[in-house]
Amino acid sequence: LSVVAPELLYLDGRFQRGLCLSFEDGLITGVGPGAVQQRGRALIPGLINAHSHAFQRVIRGRTELRNPDHPHDDFWSWREQMYQAAMTLSPERLETVARLLFLEMVASGITCVGEFHYLHHGVDGPYADPNELAWRVLRAAEWAGCRMVLLRVAYHRSGFGLKPDPRQLRFLDPSPEYGIESLEALRKAGVRVGVAPHSVRAVPGEWLKPLHDYARQHDLPYHMHISEQPRELAECRAEYGRSPVEFAADQGLIDERFTGVHAIHLEPHEFELLRGANVCACPTTERNLGDGIVAADRLLAAGCSLALGSDSQCQINLLEDARQLEYHLRLQRRQRAFLPAARLLDCATQGGARALKVPAGRFEVGRWADWVEIDLEHPALATDDPEEALAGIVFGLPQGAVAQVCVGGQPRLLDGRHPLQRQAVADFRRGN
Ligand SMILES: [Zn+2]
Repeated sequence: LSVVAPELLYLDGRFQRGLCLSFEDGLITGVGPGAVQQRGRALIPGLINAHSHAFQRVIRGRTELRNPDHPHDDFWSWREQMYQAAMTLSPERLETVARLLFLEMVASGITCVGEFHYLHHGVDGPYADPNELAWRVLRAAEWAGCRMVLLRVAYHRSGFGLKPDPRQLRFLDPSPEYGIESLEALRKAGVRVGVAPHSVRAVPGEWLKPLHDYARQHDLPYHMHISEQPRELAECRAEYGRSPVEFAADQGLIDERFTGVHAIHLEPHEFELLRGANVCACPTTERNLGDGIVAADRLLAAGCSLALGSDSQCQINLLEDARQLEYHLRLQRRQRAFLPAARLLDCATQGGARALKVPAGRFEVGRWADWVEIDLEHPALATDDPEEALAGIVFGLPQGAVAQVCVGGQPRLLDGRHPLQRQAVADFRRGN
C-alpha cells in the first residue's frame, strides 16, 4: 500500500487541503484525511483524451499554409493531405509516429486515450493479421505508458451516392460482420475496445444498428463523428431526409454508451435528443480546421456529458481543449464565464472516463490510480488560494508545471520529462 499526500487534491469539484490518496496494485484504495507530504504539489485525476487519430500526427505542421491550388482552404482540402499521409504509412512508421504521439500525451498529463482507429489495411489489402495496425498503436501506447481504449472504426464508403475513393481503401470494411470479427479478436485478447462507425457519411445506415447491438451485448462504448461539417448534414438530409443526430436518434443509438464526436451544427431540438449521451468536443482541432463552435453550455444544460479529444493532433494539450470550450463561447457571444474551471476540468477527466467507459477520471476507491502532479511553485501558478490555483491550472497551466504523471500508481516522468523522449524524437526524425 502506498500513499500520496499533496498540498491540494481535486475532489468533488474543488481543490481540498489535508487529503491523501492510498493505492495498491494500481487502484485507489482510499481517499481520506492525512498530513501533507508533498508540499507545493496539487493532484488532479489523469486527463482522458476521448478522441485521437494517431496517424494524423504525421501531418502536423504540413497543413498550415494555404495551398495555391486550393484558393479556398478548409476541412475538405485538409482532408486531401490527411489521405495522402494515410496512403503512405508503413506499419513500422505508424508505430514510430504513435510512440512519439502517446509519449507527448503522457508528458502533458493524459493517462488514457480513446484511439478512433480507422487505418486498417495495407495498400494492397488486409494484412495477414487484419488487426496488424491496431496492434501497432496499442503497442505504441503501452511503450509510452498510456492506457488505451481501441475504438475500432467501421468505414465503408465515400458518402451517399459517391464513387469509391481509392485513397480510402486502407480504411474500408466489406461488412459490419467483418468489423465485429476484428473487435472480437481484440476483445478476446484482453484489449479494451469500443465500437465506432466512422460517421453517417462513411457507413451505410443499415450498419449502425447491428454495430450498436454488439456494443450493447458487451457493454462497450459506441463512438461516431457527428455534425462536424455543414456538407455532412446536407448529404444526410439528401439520403435520409433528416440530420445525422435525428437519424441516430431514430435508429435508437443515443444512450449512455453513445459518444457523438464534434456535434457542432445542431438545431435547437437536437440538444434534447442527445440527453444522457456523451459529446466529445475537440476544440483545438475544430479551431484549426475551421469547423465551428461546440455549444458546450447548451449541451450540458440539456443533460449531455462532455468529453474532450485531441483528434487531429495539431496540438496535445487537453486543458487547452477544455479552456477553448469556454473561450469559443466568449468570443462568439461577447460575454464571459459560461463554464467554471471545475466544470471544464471535469470534461477533461470524468467526462472522458464516462465516454470511454473506464474506471478513471475521479479520485474514488476502486478507480485507477492515475493522476497528474502539478508544481504549485511554478511562477505561472503561484497563489495561496485553492480556488485561484484551480482556475490558474485550467486557464493557463504551462506544460513545464507538470511535475509528475502516474498511471496505475507508477510514475511516468523523471524530473518532469519522459525517460523515452530522446529515443522517440530521434526515431521519429530519422523516419524509422
Ligand atoms: Zn476525428
